[in-house]
Amino acid sequence: MNLHEYQAKQLLTRFAIPVPESVVAASLDEVRAAAESLGMPALVKAQVHAGGRGKAGGVRRCASMTELEAQARALLGSRLVTAQTPPNGLPVSRVLLETPVAIARELYLALLVDRAAERIAVMASAAGGMDIETVAAADPEAVLVSHIEPALGLRPWQCRQIGLFLGLTAAQQSAFAGLLNGLYQLFIRCDARLVEINPLVVTEAGELIALDAKLDLDDSALYRQPELAALHDPSQEDAREVAARAEGLSYISLEGDIGCMVNGAGLAMATMDLIALHGGAPANFLDVGGGATAERVARAFALVLSDDKVAAVLVNIFGGIVRCDLIAEGILAAVQEVGVKVPVVVRLEGTNAALGLERLARSGLAIETAATLVDAANKVVEAAAAQRARVPHAGGET
Ligand code: ADP
Ligand code: MG
Repeated sequence: MNLHEYQAKQLLTRFAIPVPESVVAASLDEVRAAAESLGMPALVKAQVHAGGRGKAGGVRRCASMTELEAQARALLGSRLVTAQTPPNGLPVSRVLLETPVAIARELYLALLVDRAAERIAVMASAAGGMDIETVAAADPEAVLVSHIEPALGLRPWQCRQIGLFLGLTAAQQSAFAGLLNGLYQLFIRCDARLVEINPLVVTEAGELIALDAKLDLDDSALYRQPELAALHDPSQEDAREVAARAEGLSYISLEGDIGCMVNGAGLAMATMDLIALHGGAPANFLDVGGGATAERVARAFALVLSDDKVAAVLVNIFGGIVRCDLIAEGILAAVQEVGVKVPVVVRLEGTNAALGLERLARSGLAIETAATLVDAANKVVEAAAAQRARVPHAGGET
């Protein structure tokens, strides 16, 4: 789960990590009040779950109240598109007003879980303010990675080594050690997966300040972090993924045009592989889980259909615990409720498969059935292509 910059900065403050003075605002009245308390000049920063805001006009420097109000008015309620957002951007419902800092140098500092090393890794670079992947690709030596031994924690020598690599002066070293220790404590206590400060700046006065903050928390640990879980902002996530989660379904949005409804993550992977093997591309996959009921299947199927990208749907169910006749009922209920404008291919196997297929056949709906997974993949890829030919914008560029 991602946090907004303003939420992450509030946490940084708790761990004694210096950040610029700032106030968050959700309306123009709040913007005015915040500007009064901060004074001018000020920066207005769009709060979205994505970086790249600076280059996309989401971070604006304002010299006067009038300018600040105009910029805040333009940002609040808009959708900001950056290199890291979906193509249609993310909604801006809050802005952070911040006091400008006189920057001498911009550094990069992050802590993340390095799964391969089974350690928390510190990543640092003197090339801050830029996309770190680009820096690492162009000049790998510009990035230092230092792993933290879990039994020992962050060691003083590591702080000195990283500080030296970043070109900090002796006077800045102790402040840096305090800051890095604070970040490490925050990382552990908040069950984070990533804490990224880009840029960490050295001010003209020689102080270290976290100018930006990205915090990604481990979803699996949120049950023991109720205070952090409450910071969840669903407006920043894929609406269908949020709706699916509320129903206890796992749904993932993808780039292709074939909607997939399956049961079980393994079958989902196999289904996507087979679609790809036959020249198609999944638009999403929805796992209805093991104990699917007809109502759940109906809601799931409606969710898959609600995606405009979908040019054809493949239902691939292996009935072990779940009964295939219930799946068929769910599909029929969903079709009756929301209608279906795209071809649907169904493969049912396992408990009551014959009964399920018979129900679908008797319904009189244009549902194609398939005997095997290969047959199903072939049919759905063909159906999607035919649908695209019939309705040129189906599965097309939105
Ligand atoms: P993003 O990473 O989304 O582009 P940042 O918060 O990193 O957003 O801001 C982009 C750039 O704007 C920073 O690299 C920095 O140069 C500048 N900036 C951001 N906040 C401040 C601030 N308080 N004072 C001065 N410059 C800032
Ligand atoms: Mg940044």
